Amino acid sequence: MRFFYLFLLACIPCLQAFAQFSFSDSSVRERIRHDIYVLASDSLEGREAGMPGEKKACTYLISRLKEAGIPPWQGGVYLQPFTHGYMKFGKTPHLRISGKSFNWRYDFGLCTYSAGDSLTSLCVDAGFGLVIPGAGIDDYKDIMDPGGKIVLINLGAPAKLSGDKSLRNDLSPAFRLAIAVKKGAAGIIFYNKPGLYGKSLFDFSLNDTLGIPVIYVTQEVADFIREHRSEPVTMAVYINRSTQTYHNITAYIDNRAPRTIILGAHYDHVGKSTDRKYNGAYCVGADDNASGTAGILELARYYSAHMDKKNNYLVIFFSAEEKGLYGSEFFVRDMRPSFRDSVNFMVNFDMIGRLGCEGLQLTAEAVGSSPLWKKLYREVKHPGFHLKKIAPSLPFSDQESFYRKGIPVLYLTTGLHQDYHTPFDKPGTINYTGMAGILNYSEKLVSAAGSGDKVPYRKVPGISLILEMTGFIFDYIGGMMSF
Ligand SMILES: [Zn+2]
Repeated sequence: MRFFYLFLLACIPCLQAFAQFSFSDSSVRERIRHDIYVLASDSLEGREAGMPGEKKACTYLISRLKEAGIPPWQGGVYLQPFTHGYMKFGKTPHLRISGKSFNWRYDFGLCTYSAGDSLTSLCVDAGFGLVIPGAGIDDYKDIMDPGGKIVLINLGAPAKLSGDKSLRNDLSPAFRLAIAVKKGAAGIIFYNKPGLYGKSLFDFSLNDTLGIPVIYVTQEVADFIREHRSEPVTMAVYINRSTQTYHNITAYIDNRAPRTIILGAHYDHVGKSTDRKYNGAYCVGADDNASGTAGILELARYYSAHMDKKNNYLVIFFSAEEKGLYGSEFFVRDMRPSFRDSVNFMVNFDMIGRLGCEGLQLTAEAVGSSPLWKKLYREVKHPGFHLKKIAPSLPFSDQESFYRKGIPVLYLTTGLHQDYHTPFDKPGTINYTGMAGILNYSEKLVSAAGSGDKVPYRKVPGISLILEMTGFIFDYIGGMMSF
């Protein structure tokens, strides 16, 4: 146990309402420990979504749901299959202008919108690449013929438009791409201010490609292209698109109540480490997110055995969170409107296993997603640990999919640490006593929030807009890149 300090939650009171089941019982702690040791064992090979190790995790979780007597949600099956597109790289992409070759991942990168193709053509500078008749803007009006050419687009926006929310669509990269394609562009080169990341890491699909290669370049490369505008640009992108099937796991505690509370955690992880220094070792993901998975499973056991029938509980273990929140995005897209209307709020656990380790404390994110949450977090006591509160829902775990659908979310995590996404995120580093304390606290939060009227939703201003506006850059090998 490296740098590991047990955080004793000595003053957690026993639950009065349900004496037979207390989260501070050693038997509960042992059950959580067992679940995490199984889910984060080497034989599950890091639970990469769609891979055999994740399937083993899936089989295990279903067996645990059955043991607890928690039936499937719909159609008598626990598995909720869905498909998602992915890209596979072929050769290293290249970009050449005036005899100079640029370096992939340093000077330029690929956009998720890109199709695999190579071409050589002149490049035209389309400014911001905007056509907004209502605002008197047409960046193509002085371009003689963009057809068959590569179009260079600055993803910034004119100062007078940049704060205008009503132009959100017109200013999005996807919209500018569609305009360029309509104008006959054969390829697109985007550039933007440095330091901005992007949204399409989280939502690209096969449909996003408009059939031409799309890359992004640094400001320096964009300047170089402009200086050599009379010379052709060669760009080549080698990617194939395909689809993969994944499986969420859903179960339902049906108390015939009018409202349902969703309890969710992702059970997938990243598989083998891609960092050379770890020599292909598996990242077993004890904290990320065997901890949250075991935590939701334990809450589900509690609600299944509980006498309080005020709510129904939908339990979901999401797949492919690590690939970009695919499982939760599919789930919210697939919800029937009648079910959607019955959902009161969603609880997400992602990494709840390191309470008190190296100074980590419990953090509640998305506190702004309901006007009630501030009061809730203030009134429900959390003896034994500090609670940090963050107003926005950040797009780094599955609660974000629900938040975007207008559902209030409670998201608890003990946060990032040095073992995150490394082979060192092992079951021996988990604070099981701390986890039991978090579950005890979560049950009180859920009970308080679920016993009143329907929880109102509130949008936290700014966050989604920033994400949609700030580009769309990633590569599978290097992770997210900025430019
Ligand atoms: Zn995670």
